Formats: sequence, structure tokens, C-alpha cells
Amino acid sequence: MTQFLRALKSLTHFAAYKANRHRKSILVEISNVCNAQCYYCQTGWENRNHITHPGTSFMEVERFKQILAYARKTSFVKGQSLVTLHNWHEPLLHPDFPSIIKAAQQASYCVELSTNANVLPKISPDFDASPIAMTIFSMPGFSQASYDKIHRFDFEHIKHNIAQIVKTFRQHGCFGRFIIAFHVYQFNTHELQAAKAFARSLAIDLWPYFAFICDGPRHLQYLKGTLPNDYLLNVSKDLFMGFYMKNLKPSTFCPVAKNLTVDVDGNCRMCCNDDTLLGNVFEMTPERWDRIHQEHPVCKECMALGKANWELADDLNFPLQGFAQFKRINFTYLKAFALTCLQSPKAENAKP
Ligand code: SF4
Ligand code: SF4
Repeated sequence: MTQFLRALKSLTHFAAYKANRHRKSILVEISNVCNAQCYYCQTGWENRNHITHPGTSFMEVERFKQILAYARKTSFVKGQSLVTLHNWHEPLLHPDFPSIIKAAQQASYCVELSTNANVLPKISPDFDASPIAMTIFSMPGFSQASYDKIHRFDFEHIKHNIAQIVKTFRQHGCFGRFIIAFHVYQFNTHELQAAKAFARSLAIDLWPYFAFICDGPRHLQYLKGTLPNDYLLNVSKDLFMGFYMKNLKPSTFCPVAKNLTVDVDGNCRMCCNDDTLLGNVFEMTPERWDRIHQEHPVCKECMALGKANWELADDLNFPLQGFAQFKRINFTYLKAFALTCLQSPKAENAKP
């Protein structure tokens, strides 16, 4: 019965959230730590270079509650809303993950999170997972060789943890969506089929997309043509940057600018792409937030370079995700598809 009520509760939440998504989402990063060293992520870059940030490692539950309440009071969100718990770090490392989920639920937020699945969250028997609308498992391929190249984790351990998280969340009333975000690199297209079989075995979705430089500073350098040669060489060997570059154009609009983005210390950041500090969240208002994103030189440069358009990458990857729904993924076709994109006339000036 409890299970049924939880499912009903989460369905009602998701329906209310989906009914009108305007001013519905905020991003509050609950962790300032990640245990991976991914080559194309800015946190991985910092981990490999032993760069640490001052400040707290995990957001206090009380502060999290205050931020959710403030966002609602100041109309950053209205009605049933969504809070994303990750930006550049690993949310499941939070030592009191269940209390974070409970706080979100009490404040009428659904939850989205993305995890590398290297650690299992600490949960209690009465943990209520019904507010979790979306859990994304970020995978750099489906073999130990791919994990050695990017996340540097034990592949079997990750598979075990993914299965365990799906099972545990479902047992605790999660009715939300689980997705394997499969980062398609040049070296792992042949692993998609196995990833799909694994996703099917857990009754979860596979969501492949072409990997790119998911690292604000290095991405900017790439667009400006100032990336160091060794990094650029790896980009040309591993990624499908040209696929994106031929489609992305300067814009006057940014799809992510609308979402309040707060770091673990309660400071506003420019967005999920850029770390520029904008001051304490409790001094921010929606009007000030909008004005900053219209006038700030960082946003102006970002839009002029086409970087703001990067959020449209989901649209570009849509055919790939549709393709993944077929019974058998033909990776030869997939590679040909990517190469055709790169070789089309519009891509002539694209970088590797
Ligand atoms: S991509 Fe994810 S798992 Fe990898 S270093 Fe970045 S935050 Fe950590
Ligand atoms: S324009 Fe660029 S820096 Fe500004 S919010 Fe959008 S993605 Fe972030």
C-alpha cells in the first residue's frame, strides 16, 4: 500500500511539473566533490591537476531547504518544480542524500540527478525515493578499456552499482525515469549494442549522444582556437566536435540562462556551463538574474561564439537517440552517419 501511495504521489508531482515548465527548474549543486578524472570534463581536469576549491564539500541540508524556499518565495520557480542536484560534481557522494530528497519533496520539488555510479548512496529503510523524477547514469562506453580512458573506474563495479541503484530506488517508491547517458566517442561506437542490452535487462533507457568538450574553460579555448596542441590532438582522435560545430551558430538567446544555478556554498553561478560567481543566492532576484544574463560580457561572448547554443545539442542528438531504439544498433552505420555529418559542405571549416 505504501508503495502504491508513493507511486501515486510521484505521478501527481510529475504531472504537475510537466503541465507548465516555465520558471519551473533550478539547479542546486549539493556536492563539491567528484571522484572521477574524466579527460573532457572540467572537474576531471581539476582532479588530474590536483586543483581543489576552498569552501564546503557538501551542502548542508538546512541550507538546501532555505534555498528551495527562497527560490519559491522570490518566484524563481512556481508550482510543482524540479531541482537538479548536479552540475560539475557527484551528488551521490552527499553523506545525507535521503534528507536532501526529503527536503525537496517537502518543498514540492521533483528531483533530477546525474551520477557516475561509482558509489552507492547511503539510505535508510524508510527512504522515500518517490520525488526522484530522473536518474541519469553517465557512461563513457561499455568496456573496461573505455572506462580506463575516461572515468578510470572499475567497469564491473559500475555495472553492479547501476543495477543496485535502479533496484533500490524502485523498491523505495521511485517511479521516475532512469537513463544511461552513453557518451559516444570515436573509440566506443561498437559498445553501444552491449550497453543497450544492459539497459534493457534493467528496463531503463539508453540515451546516446556524441561526446564533446564538457569543460567550460577548455571549450571556450577550443572555440577561440587557443587550445594547447596536445589537448586538441586528443579531441581530434576521440570526439565528434565537428558534428556540433557545423550546426552551432551565434545566437542572441540562451536556453539555460533562465535557470537559477547555485553552488554548494549558496553562491549563484552564471549557469551550468560557466562558473562565473554572481554573489549570494539570498541577494538574487529573478529580475536581477535576467538582467545579468542579458548584459554580462561572459554571456555576450558565449552567445557570439555559439557556445550558448550548445544546449541545443540535445536536438542534434535526437536522431541518434531515436536510432538507439531500434532492435539492433548498427555501429557501422552509426560511424558512417557521424562521418557524413562531418564531411558535408557546411562542415568544411569545422575544427576536428
Ligand atoms: S564527467 Fe562527471 S564523473 Fe567525470 S569528472 Fe566530470 S563530474 Fe566527475
Ligand atoms: S550565454 Fe553562455 S554563459 Fe551565459 S547563461 Fe548561457 S550558456 Fe551560460
